[in-house]
Amino acid sequence: MSMRSDYCGALRPGDVGRAVTLCGWVARRREHGEHLAFVDVRDHTGIVQCVVDGSVDARPEWVVRIHGTVAARPEGTVNPELATGQVELRDCTVEILSRAEPPPFPLDERTPVEENTRLRYRYIDLRRERMQRNLRLRARVSSAIRQAMEVQGFVEVETPLLIASTPEGARDFLVPSRLTPGSFYALPQSPQILKQLLMVGGTDRYYQLARCLRDEDLRADRQFEFTQLDAEMSFAHQDDVLEAISRAVAAAAQAATGAVVDPTTIPRMTWTEAAERFGSDKPDVRFGMELVELTPLFVGTGFNAFAAAPCVKGIRVPGQGGLGRGRLDALTDQVRRWGGKGLVWLKVLADGILDSPVARFLSDTERQALVRTMAAVEGDLLLLVADDRITVRHLLGLLRLELGRPPVNEGGLNFLWVTEFPLFEALDEAGRPIPAHHPFTMPVEEDFERLESDPLSVRSQAYDLVLNGWELGSGSVRIHRPDIQSRIFSLLGIGPEEAGARFGFLLDAFRYGAPPHAGFGLGLDRLVALLAGEENIREVIAYPKTQSGVDPLMNAPSPVPDAELAIYGLRTLPPPAKG
Ligand code: ASP
Repeated sequence: MSMRSDYCGALRPGDVGRAVTLCGWVARRREHGEHLAFVDVRDHTGIVQCVVDGSVDARPEWVVRIHGTVAARPEGTVNPELATGQVELRDCTVEILSRAEPPPFPLDERTPVEENTRLRYRYIDLRRERMQRNLRLRARVSSAIRQAMEVQGFVEVETPLLIASTPEGARDFLVPSRLTPGSFYALPQSPQILKQLLMVGGTDRYYQLARCLRDEDLRADRQFEFTQLDAEMSFAHQDDVLEAISRAVAAAAQAATGAVVDPTTIPRMTWTEAAERFGSDKPDVRFGMELVELTPLFVGTGFNAFAAAPCVKGIRVPGQGGLGRGRLDALTDQVRRWGGKGLVWLKVLADGILDSPVARFLSDTERQALVRTMAAVEGDLLLLVADDRITVRHLLGLLRLELGRPPVNEGGLNFLWVTEFPLFEALDEAGRPIPAHHPFTMPVEEDFERLESDPLSVRSQAYDLVLNGWELGSGSVRIHRPDIQSRIFSLLGIGPEEAGARFGFLLDAFRYGAPPHAGFGLGLDRLVALLAGEENIREVIAYPKTQSGVDPLMNAPSPVPDAELAIYGLRTLPPPAKG
């Protein structure tokens, strides 16, 4: 016979009269005199109240097995906050399975607990309803994604963790080799090259829920190791990838929240449009406050700050015309910290009159044109930035988020494909282009001719999936022709020798019959966090690292004795002196 007959959180009025056995943790115990005790018992499904005649020594977090009979709660004692609140267990006998020390923090959802403490005692933290809900939601999402990919003919292939460096632009985690002292494996930043080789190997459609490892600064939406829906398809165009991934995320959303997302209607926007309208390559389209082009309005203006700038754009913050001077000064300082020269603010009064320190430098015509172009009404706040176009977009994009972004769980699921990313994001000090994606990304064909003459204007066949302003993932059509690949490498300053050393195996493979192919990598942790309404991906990962990269539970990273290091041919340097 199994240890229990029912789950705590599942009991309902329909169970009244049944004798049941439950197992779980004591959430709370209240004594009513010597003869009556209430013990709330919790398992992953929820909490139920158990009534014990006589006193019982069962303290919070003790592990118990309880036998009793389900009864309706007496009139007036129904608890509408609890799913089981209409019933209780009566005539209980309590069997103690495990005693527990008092927990280091209360397990209710209300008391704020420091994250380090939560992670140090993650096994206790995980008992909380929110964490169990998130873990289960994550499992449903993974399962739905697997099914959606398999229905579309994708086959799951595992790729190794001990590999050579992959070029995703982050720092590698290295693993020393014992058999070849002084040599290192790299942990995969993604299975990028391996999945491309699977295409050369005739696998046709590959996917994997792959662990990727990148040594970069951690943030709310970034961990050293993260899980990616990694996919690649042969004989495929960009549209084929977008369709396949759209189906997978629609299935994930449905499994997580029941939301119906039509995978065929996820909107698309080019990178340029996203930058111009939202000042971001991952626009949060849940709210307006779009960037408005104002440059033509101020051609020949007498206001120096605008006259000197190649670009002027602005955002309209509805109803925020009442912001106080202190807040406006703080916003201006913020813009300076983000790298701007300053911020022009104008409050819209009745009849389109503008209240602003700069209003007197603008002509009547300019002021009227501004109000008209921005569709401003009384009570609005207008924020304008004048600078080079890239800076203007960047600063207004940040301001827009700062002032308008709704909480993570508001506004539904706004998936968006951003396409036609630039192939290169900037030039380095040597004047060489820096790839925006990895160096295997195919340029848009009609832009080929400008590769050498005007590299920054070259668009790529790369695309991102965005959800509510979070970048969920990226992908691209790959270069499958060795001649194009060599041309890109040489643009990047990777000579034949270096290319051979770093990616020789890929270039070799391409000489043996590479199908055209394209793929995608989608961050599962981010997707799950958004579907769970969490701001931080650590809430949907069982054992995350802290923001400073530490695992307080297992105490990693930790020093290794010299004798052990010697096996790998390694010795540590003394820590750098603290200045
Ligand atoms: N490997 C890429 C990444 O991890 C995704 C892809 O291009 O498929 O971002």
